[in-house]
Amino acid sequence: MTRWRCAAATDIGLVRQSNQDAVYVDGALAVVADGMGGHAAGEVAAQIAVATVREGYYADESVEGLVAAVERANAAIVRDAKENPERFGMGTTLLAVAITYDYAGASSPTLVHVGDSRAYQLRDGALRQLTQDHSVAEEWVRLGRLTPEEAAVHPRRHQLTRGVGVEEEVAVDVLSIDALAGDRILLCSDGLSNELVPDELARLAGDPTDLEDAVEGLVAAARASGGHDNISVVLLEFDDVVPAAAPIHRTVTSAPPSAETIGRPRSPSRPRRFTGRVVLGVIAFFAVAAGVVALTHWYAYSSYYLADYQGAVVIYQGQPSGVLWYRPILLEATPYSMGELRPLDQRAVRATIPEPTLDAAKSYAKNLYHQWRLGVTSTTTTTTASSGSTSTTTTTGRG
Ligand code: MN
Repeated sequence: MTRWRCAAATDIGLVRQSNQDAVYVDGALAVVADGMGGHAAGEVAAQIAVATVREGYYADESVEGLVAAVERANAAIVRDAKENPERFGMGTTLLAVAITYDYAGASSPTLVHVGDSRAYQLRDGALRQLTQDHSVAEEWVRLGRLTPEEAAVHPRRHQLTRGVGVEEEVAVDVLSIDALAGDRILLCSDGLSNELVPDELARLAGDPTDLEDAVEGLVAAARASGGHDNISVVLLEFDDVVPAAAPIHRTVTSAPPSAETIGRPRSPSRPRRFTGRVVLGVIAFFAVAAGVVALTHWYAYSSYYLADYQGAVVIYQGQPSGVLWYRPILLEATPYSMGELRPLDQRAVRATIPEPTLDAAKSYAKNLYHQWRLGVTSTTTTTTASSGSTSTTTTTGRG
């Protein structure tokens, strides 16, 4: 029978205003969720994910039960966002390891994964990453477009290609963990893996004293290196492991089967040939698919808005809460700070002001600044120097 010892921690870090991560661990289940979305929505998404996976796994402790629990978490977050429009666009990563039982009652560890939270396996001081990040930059590394070093600093490294609660369907990576007694498994949010290089992760996660100390050491090191994001860590150490009788390594998509495959038994007749009609059908299919992608992309980035970014009035391209996996892009900073706007205008900017074009956004910001200047010069005689403009950035990030 597979058994582990465990420790976990989650920490707000040094920069963020709230902790949108959630963790859970017990003797048979470990979960890390890194939520995203403004107005506390990220927290809600992460918490729904953890609670739903926990409930679903304990209702059915099989691999199928674990995957179904992730699909249920996806549906629960989508539903919550529909009922609470202020949470539109929220989502979460989801990483879980659980001891699953097969039909014969044998138990073995299984991992399920969506997003860019990571699982590593540690054996004899060596660290191996078990999960692949579902982020734009990492997908490009797998396609050979970027080197891992380029990806580590790429502006799109935080842009997820998959998340839980983002769309009606979710694709889940499922993996049997092949471990030996004494192996450790480290689960973490990107707030840990972005701060520490793999050598440091290996050294700290392998700390032989005890699991709690190792977890504390990891969190402290991530804070010491900047603590730019919420930091979540789960550490498992196997006492005893039974490897899966039939190891799994695949991606399961919750998309419903197409009508084609449902009630139409395929005739065992002559071998199929590519006729002109089939080729045309395939071309039409890809043309429509490309059209849908292009249209979504266009919609996602068709508009601009003014917003407050750390006290500066900035211009974003995109929809404030994002569209699917297209997050808004911080296009450029205007020369004006929030302090150079009238209080009422400050409030409006904080709530974001949409504009159809970049020029319209710029001139609107300028207009707001002049409104404030009029008020200032009519009450005092001093003139204020506008603060130096911040350099243009093209960073995308989680809301
Ligand atoms: Mn994070």
